[in-house]
Amino acid sequence: MEKRTEIGEIGEFGLINHIASQFKDKQDWTDLGIGDDTAVLDPKGNKVVTTTELFIEGVHFDLGYTPLQHLGFKVVSVVLSDIAAMNAIPAQITIGLGLSNRFSVESVDALYEGIRLACEEYKVDLVGGDTTSSPQGLIISMTATGVAEAEKLVQRGTAKPNDVLCVSGDLGAALMGLHSLEREKQVFLANPDMKPELEGKSYVVLRQLKPMARFDIIHELRDLGVVPTSMIDCSDGLASEIIHLCNASGLGARIFEKNIPIDDETYLSATEFNVSPLTAALNGGEDYELVFTVSQEDFPKVEKIADVTAIGYMTNVSHERVMVMKSDAIVDLTAPGFGKA
Ligand code: ADP
Ligand code: MG
Repeated sequence: MEKRTEIGEIGEFGLINHIASQFKDKQDWTDLGIGDDTAVLDPKGNKVVTTTELFIEGVHFDLGYTPLQHLGFKVVSVVLSDIAAMNAIPAQITIGLGLSNRFSVESVDALYEGIRLACEEYKVDLVGGDTTSSPQGLIISMTATGVAEAEKLVQRGTAKPNDVLCVSGDLGAALMGLHSLEREKQVFLANPDMKPELEGKSYVVLRQLKPMARFDIIHELRDLGVVPTSMIDCSDGLASEIIHLCNASGLGARIFEKNIPIDDETYLSATEFNVSPLTAALNGGEDYELVFTVSQEDFPKVEKIADVTAIGYMTNVSHERVMVMKSDAIVDLTAPGFGKA
């Protein structure tokens, strides 16, 4: 039997101390971390960005196939992805936890193991939080802060006509990972003796369970001296994010089907699940890639970044958000959540 320590045995403050003892501050602008009524931050003249994401068991994650360590890592990646999308550098997180009595000290430890791994990966400090009981399930609220010099901050609404529209990495994989895990769950529920059949799914499953916020791209852009003209992270699918950039900038966009980056494993999985790989890329969520625009002048530099693909350009025809198909047909970009214009 695995060891199980009830949270009641060590108490709320015992749990907080236990968590705090596993974290050490790294950022020079974290003046005060866990332990007082608030954390104290000193941004040293930079702009501070801050954002929160809420995750609810049964809505945003399924512990039936999500290991708690991965969940801990993922919730940090997801909230930091928004910091990346502002072209800022992340520095601190705080976490609000609602725990039902299903969760033991050991399960909280597993969650925090993933959070700690992410704090190391992204060089961020856990500087506070709140812990409370929940009548049912696990609730996680993640807040993150980051900094940037004023002239480096990038918003959604500042793209210009003819700017090149770029995307990092590849798209649609996280959705295919989700389909793979959901299928295995159904197989397991029907017959618990069946072995999971995730062969040929390692990449898409990893993209679903352990996404990365793309600070590697943010740092490469900085090294090249390029500030994107607009940026957003890809949480709801490429089409939705492009429409956001267009709406905020008052512009149109034209992208090319042949340029949309889709990994082979995503392609094969989509075929297997009877989903169009293109739809997975355009409307699948949770890829957490960066979608951004750069000026024509900066594009030759950006082109050198191995994991960035130019997929189209912005236009001054603001109502036209379209994709040129391989067949030369032109189709409208559509996304659930946006009504017809
Ligand atoms: P208060 O009553 O002032 O809200 P708490 O007892 O809730 O204080 O928290 C004590 C300290 O521990 C604070 O610094 C708080 O930010 C931090 N903290 C509370 N819960 C968590 C958690 N789940 N993870 C990390 N830090 C936490
Ligand atoms: Mg509190």
